[in-house]
Amino acid sequence: MVEGFTAALRSLVEAESPSSDLLAVETCGDRLAEVGEAITGAAPERVPLAGGPSALLWRRGEADAPGRVLLLGHRDTVWPLGTVAQRPPATEGGRIHGPGVFDMKAGLLVGLHVLARLDPRVPVTLLVTGDEEIGSASSRELIEAQARECQAVLVLEGAAEGGALKRARKGWSIYTLRCRGRSAHAGLEPHKGANALVRMAELVAETQRLNAPDRGLTVTPTLAQAGRTVNTVPDHAELHLDVRAASSTDQWSVDERIRAMADTSTEVAVEVEGGRNRPPMEEDAAAALLERAALHARELGERPPGSAAVGGISDANLCAAMGIPTLDGLGAVGGGPHAEHEWVDLDATLHRIPLVSALVDGLAEHPLPGP
Ligand SMILES: [Zn+2]
Repeated sequence: MVEGFTAALRSLVEAESPSSDLLAVETCGDRLAEVGEAITGAAPERVPLAGGPSALLWRRGEADAPGRVLLLGHRDTVWPLGTVAQRPPATEGGRIHGPGVFDMKAGLLVGLHVLARLDPRVPVTLLVTGDEEIGSASSRELIEAQARECQAVLVLEGAAEGGALKRARKGWSIYTLRCRGRSAHAGLEPHKGANALVRMAELVAETQRLNAPDRGLTVTPTLAQAGRTVNTVPDHAELHLDVRAASSTDQWSVDERIRAMADTSTEVAVEVEGGRNRPPMEEDAAAALLERAALHARELGERPPGSAAVGGISDANLCAAMGIPTLDGLGAVGGGPHAEHEWVDLDATLHRIPLVSALVDGLAEHPLPGP
């Protein structure tokens, strides 16, 4: 098992799949289909998607069986082609390193082994997309359609520290604030100008008053641009904001306040663009599943995994926002997502297979109470 898992993981890592390279992501899909067929005995359905790479779908059980569970993952990574040549997958003291091992190729293998372990009559869907790292624009509809048929979604992204499951994820909003003033010579007649940069600086200060880190709300100016030459009053300035919110209420109220900064009646006009990209995954979406996971871990003679609320987003946010019970972080145990030291703890990751299988099995037998 260990050797087979390691070899399959190497093979998936070697099929590099940066989100921006459609062909590479498709080729990785071919590899995953082969690996998956070898493990589960069944070829996936390949679902073409407009504007993005195809998705892979393994569906088990009767088509309309009640109590279906969705296992969700993605095969694209943040690493450009050529990274594997520089940092080939390597095993060292029970850890496997390599680009994309933790986020999230090892998690895909967990999902495939779960299918192999379960009775083929258990209604479960494994969906693997290829555009998660760039916002899931082309796969979103399919994810939502598959999730709608399910009583619960188990997301196979890497665990939080120490193998903790992810019970909450912040929501994400992005904004662009554009200031348009009037240029003038900074030496000869500065009074004739309307300084867009000064207005932008005021806006930066205003946005900082919206921060409430104790409630998990952060408003971060990330990029800015202004002016034309060193001796001209700038007639334009642009500011980008990254907003993370633990609660939907905060996400909407900040949205309203940032939009209210738009004003075209003043000397320097301000326009606001952008909005909510991902709603937060709030704690209650995961609570019942977290309890089940703890229960099954004890049945397996293991310490129940802890849980964490995290800032990053995933496709779990989409499913949770639909009101479907969703638990994330069930894939690889390890660390360093999007970092060069990315690693997977092989033993702890293999322990996810019986745990996730038990979760799916338990849900099929005793579905969660409906809403
Ligand atoms: Zn991921």
